[in-house]
Amino acid sequence: MRSFEESESLSALRRLPSIDSVLRSEVVQPLMVSDGRDYLVSLAQEVVGGLRSEIQETFSPLIGLDTGELLAEVNSRILRKRQSHDRSRTQRVINATGVVIHTNLGRAPLSENARRALVDAAGASSVEYDIDNGSRGLRGTYAEELITELTSADGAIVVNNCAAAMFLALTVFAAGKEVVISRGELVEIGGDFRIPDVLARSGAQLVEVGTTNRTKLSDYENAINENTGMILSVHPSNYRIVGFTSGVGVDGLVQLAHSRGLLFYQDAGSGALIDLNEYGLEGEPVIPRSIELGTDIVSFSGDKLLGGPQCGIIIGRGELIEKIRKHPLYRALRVDKLTYAALEATLESYRRGSALQDIPVLKMISATEKELEVRCRAFLSKCQEIPGMKIEILAGASVIGGGAAPNVKRVSPVIAVSHSTMSADDIETKFRYSNPPIIVRIEKDLVLIDLRTVSEKDENEIIRAFSHFDAKTQS
Ligand SMILES: *Cc1c(COP(=O)(O)O)cnc(C)c1O
Repeated sequence: MRSFEESESLSALRRLPSIDSVLRSEVVQPLMVSDGRDYLVSLAQEVVGGLRSEIQETFSPLIGLDTGELLAEVNSRILRKRQSHDRSRTQRVINATGVVIHTNLGRAPLSENARRALVDAAGASSVEYDIDNGSRGLRGTYAEELITELTSADGAIVVNNCAAAMFLALTVFAAGKEVVISRGELVEIGGDFRIPDVLARSGAQLVEVGTTNRTKLSDYENAINENTGMILSVHPSNYRIVGFTSGVGVDGLVQLAHSRGLLFYQDAGSGALIDLNEYGLEGEPVIPRSIELGTDIVSFSGDKLLGGPQCGIIIGRGELIEKIRKHPLYRALRVDKLTYAALEATLESYRRGSALQDIPVLKMISATEKELEVRCRAFLSKCQEIPGMKIEILAGASVIGGGAAPNVKRVSPVIAVSHSTMSADDIETKFRYSNPPIIVRIEKDLVLIDLRTVSEKDENEIIRAFSHFDAKTQS
């Protein structure tokens, strides 16, 4: 004999709506055109299936619902799942974190010119077509010209990212050979990119010299033998050893490598095309300077301090770059038309001399405390009074981030938000669920909005999001 509970749950199961009736319901039916039938069928099956298992558990509150209530529950779950799928799309967000190069938020935001170029190139484009001759052209020629012009390098080539650039350069020049590198530079650069692993995969043999905190020129000298192919220097972007440290400069390594007939390769990582010293970025390799010092090959990312799209750029001696171009691995790592279009437009800003005005990353880094203070005050004056909510300007700091310059902070006034009944986490969540999502940071139980990383035209969207905190205007 069945228990009372079992028979109750059996009758609730019978009250569950059929997939067909869910699809015909007034909530789901209107979504047919925008979402497509197949997607809605799979959502309905998932949700109804979930309810079925819940009903079979003892004491499920669903057992007490009538047919109409169960259908309403199904529909509301379908809408929630649909929303959550919608949020998983790669979409625009507002970066109010104060982290200028935020890897989770797509690193460098593109300049207006780069965005236009990208959209323009999205259809048929001249990526491999020579308009002057009406015939096939070479991919990337213009981007490479711009890079060599801006860095004074002989040659340049663009691949998918800096990790790909490094893998390619090591495969082409160091496979089967020993590569000498300082122990202090055997770093992991976010997302499981470990220099020793990349070296091993490329077929090169790692020879570590020095200690974690100190490496001398003689350490490199002593490690060189007839199997050595290259001296490698990796900029420890997201990592600093402080205190009793010493390393060997690029100039010393260039001279040593060349006196022994070896290549010197510098993985600069972030790749500042111009000197950003005055904005606190003292330790960053300045790419044209590395070339000037005689570095044979330099690699760097396109979407860090350069301020362009994701890509990895390799520059250096012409014949070395051509060797890379002929390697089959290059074909697998090359970039698409959209990347070239955005990169070219970004580099044109440098050539025009308007990089600091055009390129968001550089604009954000170079914004002064005074400028930000003016923006914060104007922002505050536009925020409406919300009962229980306190919005004030505090002294704070932005960080460069993105594996570029971990310790570099820029003094910034920030907008602090707190509420008499909501926690900082509640406020953060509300901002994250606004449209577009606004990503803030929490420090000492305060939600901070750092306008340094917010473009001026996005400020009003944050101000509008504040109205969702007002119980009276809440929808
Ligand atoms: C960021 C970084 C990389 C990886 O660059 P991606 O473009 O993310 O592949 C490699 N080396 C250094 C030194 C870096 O800073």
